[in-house]
Amino acid sequence: MKKTVGIIGAGIGGLTAAARLASEGHSVTVWERNAKAGGKMNEVVKNGYRFDTGPSLFTMPFVLEELFESCGRNYTDYLTLEPVDPLCRYNWQDGTTFDCSTDLQKTLGQISEFAPGDAEAYVRFLGYSADLYEKTAETFIMNPLQTVMDLRNLKKSDIFKIDAFPTVSTRVDKFFESPHLRQVFKRFATYNGSSPYLAPATINVIAYVELCLGGYYVKGGLYSISRALEKLCTELGVDIQYNVDIKTILTEDKKAVGVAFNSGETARADVIFSNSDATFTYTDLIEKGVLKKKQVNKISAIEPSCSGFVMMLGTDKKFDKLKHHNIFFSRDYEKEFSEIFHRKMLPEDPTIYVANTSATDTNHAPNGGSNLFILINAPYLTEKLGWDEARCKEYGDLIIHKLENFGLDGLSESIKVREHISPQDFYDTYRSNRGSIYGTSSNQQLSAFMRPRNKSPYIDNLYLVGGSTHPGGGIPLVMMSARHAVTIFNRQVDKS
Ligand SMILES: Cc1cc2nc3c(=O)[nH]c(=O)nc-3n(C[C@H](O)[C@H](O)[C@H](O)COP(=O)(O)OP(=O)(O)OC[C@H]3O[C@@H](n4cnc5c(N)ncnc54)[C@H](O)[C@@H]3O)c2cc1C
Repeated sequence: MKKTVGIIGAGIGGLTAAARLASEGHSVTVWERNAKAGGKMNEVVKNGYRFDTGPSLFTMPFVLEELFESCGRNYTDYLTLEPVDPLCRYNWQDGTTFDCSTDLQKTLGQISEFAPGDAEAYVRFLGYSADLYEKTAETFIMNPLQTVMDLRNLKKSDIFKIDAFPTVSTRVDKFFESPHLRQVFKRFATYNGSSPYLAPATINVIAYVELCLGGYYVKGGLYSISRALEKLCTELGVDIQYNVDIKTILTEDKKAVGVAFNSGETARADVIFSNSDATFTYTDLIEKGVLKKKQVNKISAIEPSCSGFVMMLGTDKKFDKLKHHNIFFSRDYEKEFSEIFHRKMLPEDPTIYVANTSATDTNHAPNGGSNLFILINAPYLTEKLGWDEARCKEYGDLIIHKLENFGLDGLSESIKVREHISPQDFYDTYRSNRGSIYGTSSNQQLSAFMRPRNKSPYIDNLYLVGGSTHPGGGIPLVMMSARHAVTIFNRQVDKS
């Protein structure tokens, strides 16, 4: 039976759910509080410089392909994906650099120069990571995880082989002697905003996803994905309404029946999908008193992923040292993560990520300049660390100084455009729980498997999609969250 569906938020999760539901014939409306689609997958254009303000690396393109196929379309008619090679240039303060590639022979050639004793360990680690993917992907990523019944395809013997007991760091240290390679592999835990010193070694699966399945750029910038999803939705008849802030999800007898807007107006719907952060959905969008205190406490206790401090620099020169993706590592990785997750302070010596899409799309910076998107992992919002323009300026200056010490000579003088995004901005703009950029962290042994479910166990007819829900943050997983929510919704419709 066809339903009227209301979706809160036009992030990747909301748009993906909208496209799937509309292609099945449901009547779908999306309400987005901002003026454009894409949520955290956003872009800024200033004085001829173009920046993606969220994701810069795209993985698991087969998820996108399946989405478009399920809507009767071919994604290549909407987007052009380009493999990135090298995947990333890693830089250390001792002068070592490492261009890591999906081409194994190229990568081993590089490793032979700075960590010859670990070449064999690199190959073994990829095998270990591939094995984790084989044991976890079907059950924990590709399928809904709503009830224990959803675990039926998991082989009992595999439960003890997914490496959930040691941390990422402990396992990586067992493989590698080289401090450089240790740092490279620990960094993958940050892809879902976790600490390698806390997250379970299962997260080492991310290395396989990037290094073996490949990392991609989308021609024109990653924001092209947001545009493509918006176009797909519009073609399928989805009504996307912008600048509409949802204040409350209306409920009757613990059943979602519609929404109330900040303006005071209301709209009814048979079913509500929330792409707003799961914690925000339960603690702010559901009226007080509807959920039990115990339920609210459980949701409020979920640890968000880390947040991020973003600086965008438009420069009038190119930097030979830079590839498309670049990492400038801190000296003491463990201290850095302790500062982010325990002390909740800005790292004194942060690892700096720089995406330079002008290396691939030269028109993203005018007159042969560069468009540098710089991301530092930062603590999620606490009362301890407030954000204002002065803090952004001060921390940004420190980063610029560090990049110059790494060899980006003349960076300060070449800056023509400078913009910041702080953890507070991530909350204010997108309502991300405490400014988190990937949803929930995987810092506890089982947290990766215990994310908020895609169908609310508390409120009927309420579904949750996005990085703060199962299976987690990052573009492909967020798309999977929407697929799972729609699958579970269809199960319900079939039952009724
Ligand atoms: C700096 C940064 C770098 C990243 N790098 C990568 C990367 O390289 N690769 C990768 O795969 N992922 C990356 N990510 C993660 C990725 O961007 C996110 O996982 C993904 O975009 C989250 O999508 P979402 O749909 O869950 O949520 P969001 O993008 O947050 O979308 C939620 C939407 O809901 C709207 N909304 C919320 N509340 C309301 C309300 N009450 N009323 C109306 N609208 C509402 C918001 O405005 C927003 O548009 C990065 C993220 C950031 C911020």
